[in-house]
Amino acid sequence: MFHASKISVRVRMEVAILCFLCVTPLSHLWSGTTVPTPETHFGFIPGSDRMLFDYQELIAYLKTLDETSPMLKLQTIGTSPEGRPMYIAFISAAENIAALEDLRAINRRLALDPAIPEAKRTELITRGRVFVLATLSMHSGEVGPSQAAPTIAYRLISEKRFAPWLERVVYMMVPCHNPDGMDMVVAHYRKYKGGKWEGSSMPGVYHKYVGHDNNRDFVALTQADTRAIARIYNLEWFPQVMVEKHQMGSLTARYFVPPNHDPIAENIDARLWNWSGIFGSNMMKDMTEAGLAGISQHYLFDDYWPGSFFYHHFTLATASDPPTGSIDINSCFF
Ligand SMILES: [Zn+2]
Repeated sequence: MFHASKISVRVRMEVAILCFLCVTPLSHLWSGTTVPTPETHFGFIPGSDRMLFDYQELIAYLKTLDETSPMLKLQTIGTSPEGRPMYIAFISAAENIAALEDLRAINRRLALDPAIPEAKRTELITRGRVFVLATLSMHSGEVGPSQAAPTIAYRLISEKRFAPWLERVVYMMVPCHNPDGMDMVVAHYRKYKGGKWEGSSMPGVYHKYVGHDNNRDFVALTQADTRAIARIYNLEWFPQVMVEKHQMGSLTARYFVPPNHDPIAENIDARLWNWSGIFGSNMMKDMTEAGLAGISQHYLFDDYWPGSFFYHHFTLATASDPPTGSIDINSCFF
């Protein structure tokens, strides 16, 4: 849940800034560590036409960053329905990563304890950090976000201009919400690559039990991967901001940013709804400035349906072309 009253406006705006990162070319490392670029690891620039990496290759890169950078920590969060380990990557200033458990305890208390004395609450907010959770590619046919995960991680830890934000924000990235589906989709694409059926839809569903409806499972929590995600925000970390990264279809708007369209569920806090609009409008401003077009708001996705992951939270859907076209990796930054 979002706890609008429990964090300062100043800190909130810094979270907002993190979410509105502009697109710039890769720059030199600044943190004194040497980490491999995504291109070095995968042998191609993620997002290149007709090139996809699979789940194991994705996690192998993040494990390398975990081993080589003090700014990234990889943890397991559960197991997928087919038995693949699921992960979350914490990306922040090295001092924050080193103090992650303390920061988690602060965040947890701010979220759950309504009776903190005012002076103590101010102290906790001052000592605490803002947690921003992003989950990528729950719909595995929407390959863009997970294919962008290595680039997002690399840029955050290697570009100096992000340092001021990462001193105050812990970015929590679930690099793949549906590991089973990612491997199915990538295996299908590779099997037919170069042939008549290259780029065809996979003849089956990309989730063992619920297919595309894994985004309807946040009421009943019937699936292991759904529960792994829900544990992050309901039981363990209580992020202030959540972003669920999808990929738009090829026949509608290229991008969607919040707010969602009416109707709005009556138990959504008015302050949350207002912040959703502020975030979305700033995303649109920055995306337009970066040269991206076709951005929609108040479109396609309502804020009433209670089964969605993003029901109480901010939602960002990023659009790109299917695997046979160009995946705009940098657009997944927003
Ligand atoms: Zn989707």
